[in-house]
Amino acid sequence: MYLRVAVAVTFPLSILYFLFVATPDRGAVPFVFALFAMWLKWRTRHDSEESLRYAGWFVLTLMCLMLYGAYVSNEKLHQEVWMMIFPIAFAPIVAERERITWIAVGALSLFAVSMLRLEPLTLISAFVFLSAYLTLGLITMMLVRHNEQNIERLAHLTITDPLTKTYNRGYLKEVMASEINRCKRSGQALTVIMLDIDYFKMFNDTYGHLYGDSVLEQVAESLKKSAQRAGDYVFRYGGEEFCILASGLDREEAGQFTEKLRLSIYGLNIENRQSPHHRLTASAGFWCVAELSEITTSALLLNADNALYRAKEAGRDRVVDFDEIPPAEITRSTQLQSAPA
Ligand code: GH3
Ligand code: MG
Ligand code: MG
Repeated sequence: MYLRVAVAVTFPLSILYFLFVATPDRGAVPFVFALFAMWLKWRTRHDSEESLRYAGWFVLTLMCLMLYGAYVSNEKLHQEVWMMIFPIAFAPIVAERERITWIAVGALSLFAVSMLRLEPLTLISAFVFLSAYLTLGLITMMLVRHNEQNIERLAHLTITDPLTKTYNRGYLKEVMASEINRCKRSGQALTVIMLDIDYFKMFNDTYGHLYGDSVLEQVAESLKKSAQRAGDYVFRYGGEEFCILASGLDREEAGQFTEKLRLSIYGLNIENRQSPHHRLTASAGFWCVAELSEITTSALLLNADNALYRAKEAGRDRVVDFDEIPPAEITRSTQLQSAPA
C-alpha cells in the first residue's frame, strides 16, 4: 500500500519535471526513485511483512531524493519544500525507536545541504526552515504513535473477554491452529484443558448474579496466575467454562498442571453453601496429545470436553484425563477417539 502510494506520487512528479520544470537530470532523480519503489514492490509482492525489512533502505533513498531537491533549490524554485514531506513519509514505516534518529539525521543533512548548495540559504532562512521541518516531524511522530496505540488497543479488545480479561472464544480457534502447527514443528505435545465451575447456577441463585460476576473475575485471575509460562493460554470458553492450552508437557505433567488449576480455584476459599462441597469448586478434563499430525482443533476441544463431562459425572471437584476414559464410555463421538500418548 505504502509503496504503491510512493510510486503513484513520484512517477507523475518526475514526468512533470521532465515536461515543465527544469533540466532532464532533475526529472531523472524522482524517476529513478519511482523505479526503485516499483522494484521493491515487485521484490516483496508475495509477503508484505518482508517489505518492512527494506524500510531502512527505502527511507534512506527517500531522504536522498528530498536532499537533492533541497540542493538544487534556488530563488525561483523552492524545491526544499519537498523536504517537508520527509517526516510524514517515513514515520509510518519505521520502528518507533528509529523515528527520532531519522528526524535528527534529516535535520542535520538538511542544514548541511542548505549551506553547501549552489545558492546557499541565509542563516535566518535555514533556521526558519529547520524549525518548520522539526515541528512537522514531531507532530507527525505524535500522530503516528497515537494511531498505533489505538490500533493496539482495538486489537487487544477484539481478542479479550470483557468480564474476565482472559482471551475470548473467537481467539481460541486462531491460537489453537497456530499452536498445533508450532508443536508439530518442534515435536512438543499439546495439552487442551476444559475447566468448568461446579454448581454455579446454584451460586448465582444463592448470592446473586453480581457477586457471581466478581467471582468469575477472581477465578480467571487465579487461572491466569497459574498459567504463566510461554505457551500457556487461558480463554473464556462460555459462561463459567474456561479452556486452557499448554505446550511442552508430557501426560503426567499435564495432569499435575490441570490439578494445580483446579486447586487454585479451591484455594480461593469461596463459600458455595448449597453445593455438596460447601465451597466453590471446579471440574476439569484434559487431553495431552503428543502426535498431532492428524489432529483437528475440534477433535482436541471435543475430547477435552468429554473428559470434563466425565469429571462432572464422577462427582465434580476433580480432574479427568481423556486417555484414561474407556472408549465405550466416551459420551460424544469424535472421528479420532483417542491417540497414543
Ligand atoms: P455444573 O456443576 O454441572 O457445571 O452446574 P452449573 O450450575 O455450574 O452449570 P450450568 O451450565 O447449569 O449453569 C451455568 C451457570 O453459569 C448458569 C449461569 O447463570 C451462570 N453464568 C454463566 N455466565 C455467567 C456470567 O457471566 N456471570 C454470572 N454471574 N453467571 C454466569
Ligand atoms: Mg458449571
Ligand atoms: Mg458450564
